[in-house]
Amino acid sequence: MKLVHRAFRLVAGAVFAITAASAHAAGLKVVTTTEDLASLTREIGGDRIAVDSIAKGYQDPHFVEAKPSFILKLHAADLLIVVGRELEIGWLPPLLQQSRNANIQPGSKGYLDASLTVKILDIPQGQITRAMGDVHPSGNPHYWLDPGNGRRIAQAVQGKLSELQPADAAFFAQRFADFDKRLADAEKRWDAMLAPFKGTKIVTYHRSWPNFAERFGLEVMGYVEPKPGIPPSPQHTLDLIAEMKKAKATIILVEPYFDTKTPLSVAWETGGKVVVMSPSVGGEKEITDYIHLFDYDVNLLLGALKGTGK
Ligand SMILES: [Zn+2]
Repeated sequence: MKLVHRAFRLVAGAVFAITAASAHAAGLKVVTTTEDLASLTREIGGDRIAVDSIAKGYQDPHFVEAKPSFILKLHAADLLIVVGRELEIGWLPPLLQQSRNANIQPGSKGYLDASLTVKILDIPQGQITRAMGDVHPSGNPHYWLDPGNGRRIAQAVQGKLSELQPADAAFFAQRFADFDKRLADAEKRWDAMLAPFKGTKIVTYHRSWPNFAERFGLEVMGYVEPKPGIPPSPQHTLDLIAEMKKAKATIILVEPYFDTKTPLSVAWETGGKVVVMSPSVGGEKEITDYIHLFDYDVNLLLGALKGTGK
């Protein structure tokens, strides 16, 4: 009996030692709110950190259903990286509170708001109230869709990881330099592909694409939503159809988590085309990382633009 007990203790001790060793080898435990931030963080951290994201790329990041597993992830995290600009305001604050993890609360060393060092568009002027139904009260939170901002996020992540895990600072710096170069090469490719379509007027469902449009010289002339976060209304849809006909706009970009009923009827009325385009890593199974997100979207959009006969 005594022997069995001792053997059990030995096994349990070994299991604990293995768990502790692997946890140590994995380094910082990073939780990001979105898969885009997770991908950019992996680019910098490589195998020296562990990264997990809360929202999936096929979900509307404004409205994520809270699950108990998210609280456990947050409880164990050393670092939380958020998109900010109130993107996560509908679901993150209660999870963060219930995580009982003082290290990752806003203002703590283990909290990184990625929006603080990027270029933000659509910053509202004057008094804004939530009664207006606008889910973008602090500027447009879909800013990661400009690769220039992706680079800025990666750099901020490099700074934060180096601060929290200084022994690997040189490794993180080298990973950033490598990502920066691969991204710059990819940007040349995307620019060349979309260059012939500069100035093309497009419509988007939600205001997810201002940074993408600005970066690649497209002009967003209207939205299927009357306001960010407000579903289409009959009057707004009629106005949009009239404006699209006037502007000869034919492309309607729709994020994968929206109903295509209204966009399809707008396309029918205008002779346009609905393009379901993912704003996030993980939105389609081919979109495995940040650079693949643009590869996928630029190719998809290019096919649609060519199809319009322009
Ligand atoms: Zn939004």
